[in-house]
Amino acid sequence: MYVRFWGTRGSIAKPGASTLRYGGNTSCVEVCADDGTRVVIDCGTGAHELARALMRDPRSAGGYLLVSHTHWDHIQGFPLFDPLFVSGQRWEIYAPGGRAQHLEASLAGQMSYDYHPVGLEALEATYRFHDLTEGQFDVGGIRVTTQYLNHPALTLGYRLEADGAVVVYSSDHEPHAIRPAKDRPGLQPVHREDQRHVRFLQDADLVIHDAQYTLDEYARRAGWGHTPYECAVDYAIAAKAQRLALYHHDPLRSDPELDEVVGHARSLAASGQHVPEVMAAAEGRTIELPRRTPVPQPAIEARASALISALPERAPSVLIVEADPKAARGLQEALKPEQIRLLLAADEQEALAMARDLRPSLIFLRLGQESKAGCGFCSSLRHDRDPHVADIPIVVLTDLRRDSEHIAQAFQAGATDYLSEPIKSTLIRSRVRSWLLRTRTT
Ligand SMILES: [Zn+2]
Ligand SMILES: [Zn+2]
Repeated sequence: MYVRFWGTRGSIAKPGASTLRYGGNTSCVEVCADDGTRVVIDCGTGAHELARALMRDPRSAGGYLLVSHTHWDHIQGFPLFDPLFVSGQRWEIYAPGGRAQHLEASLAGQMSYDYHPVGLEALEATYRFHDLTEGQFDVGGIRVTTQYLNHPALTLGYRLEADGAVVVYSSDHEPHAIRPAKDRPGLQPVHREDQRHVRFLQDADLVIHDAQYTLDEYARRAGWGHTPYECAVDYAIAAKAQRLALYHHDPLRSDPELDEVVGHARSLAASGQHVPEVMAAAEGRTIELPRRTPVPQPAIEARASALISALPERAPSVLIVEADPKAARGLQEALKPEQIRLLLAADEQEALAMARDLRPSLIFLRLGQESKAGCGFCSSLRHDRDPHVADIPIVVLTDLRRDSEHIAQAFQAGATDYLSEPIKSTLIRSRVRSWLLRTRTT
């Protein structure tokens, strides 16, 4: 299996003298398995040059396009991806989807006449859209596992396994909690979702990871959905990844500045318990992954499928536990576009009764000053006699500055997720969507 970078820049294309070595085009990565299966991950402006290469290759008859999310820098190459305009080509196109978001509508919107001279109807290739949630599916000889990332739009990371090797693509992701500076690089993170993220990268031969910011820059950009490169190094160490390619480079970062980032990232990696090889993804660079005897993959059961069409539909509802009516209204406003049923409880006692009666799909618990970590409520729910009630995901939301100990306490009591203010309404929506999609098979 090999991996080739066609676009490495984040947010906006940045061609010019300052980005010649690492590249100015936005997100696009090609992965090819030994059996010839071709996967294109993201379709930023880098996809244009890939399209030209495919058109020159007489054996190329199609492939699989995996879109992480529909922000511009990941789809702007789609309307000019030549193979889609050629009859006889066959493309299967995947992206996170589901309630209130469908890939086809997003891509068609980008090709409406206000933005582009020809619409989706001009595509002559055979193509199909597939909406995804978390789970697994196969494309040719590659097993794909998906996991939600922490970004203000519904975003999936992709873990690809073939020929005994593993590559993980994790772009447009923000840590759920930043590790204290005094900690040694690569310690297991304290936030459960960060731990889950590390498991997603576990033992990969290559991790392609968002590293748009430095920790200093991140302090001014929290909530924008990107990772400081220091945290990407932490994850690669904790996950025992062989190689880390820093990715989604900031448009303001020149080549010499990126060299400096790589130098520092390498010294951080060298002080961890496990030392991954660190590089910055560079446009045009190809990485060969080692070939090992593949472990036979079991068939994917319907409930583990990432393909939404294979899953049963379930009407969702969200219970908001919030004593302050003004704050409750704020949350209701933020969730309005999701077309989900919103339930409101003013205190934890009322919430417990409503959870038992109405069995919501998700609970949003606001932590007040007096509440230690919502522990009483979380553990009452987790020990409920009704297994459905005991399983409802609880997202704890706090506007208090909490330390790692409080976060750990909340998880120990049974919280599923933990969000600290300030948090943008787009991020709240994206997290609610991802939790609702995760629970849809239960
Ligand atoms: Zn991006
Ligand atoms: Zn994005």
